[in-house]
Amino acid sequence: MICPKCQSHMKALNALPITALKCEGCAGLWFKDGQIAVDKAIEYAEFFDSQNNKNDGFFNQVREIDCPECSKPMSKMTDKSQFHIKYEMCTDCRGVFLDEGELLDLSEFTLAERLQQAIKTYQSNIK
Ligand SMILES: [Zn+2]
Ligand SMILES: [Zn+2]
Repeated sequence: MICPKCQSHMKALNALPITALKCEGCAGLWFKDGQIAVDKAIEYAEFFDSQNNKNDGFFNQVREIDCPECSKPMSKMTDKSQFHIKYEMCTDCRGVFLDEGELLDLSEFTLAERLQQAIKTYQSNIK
């Protein structure tokens, strides 16, 4: 498959039960099973993703892209918890494209939330 952002070749990456395609050019990630796959892939963020150092966020600005599966224009999405994370989703096949570093970013928030939760539980226990 060809990357919708930089037209480089995309290569399959497997961490059971999830398969993603990673771009050899911009290091963006494609999840065919959309949001469900992204939620699961967060656990394997360090395996799939890399720090956003390859293109310094350049491809994050490239948002007018067509779905690599069905060639339809993709919708621009913003993460509900972290507004600075912007990604693209196909409303037709539900595929999701994340730029390099975004999956790691999502996973870090989950960790931070867990910590906050733990602190709250601790504080209510000592009262
Ligand atoms: Zn690319
Ligand atoms: Zn599609």
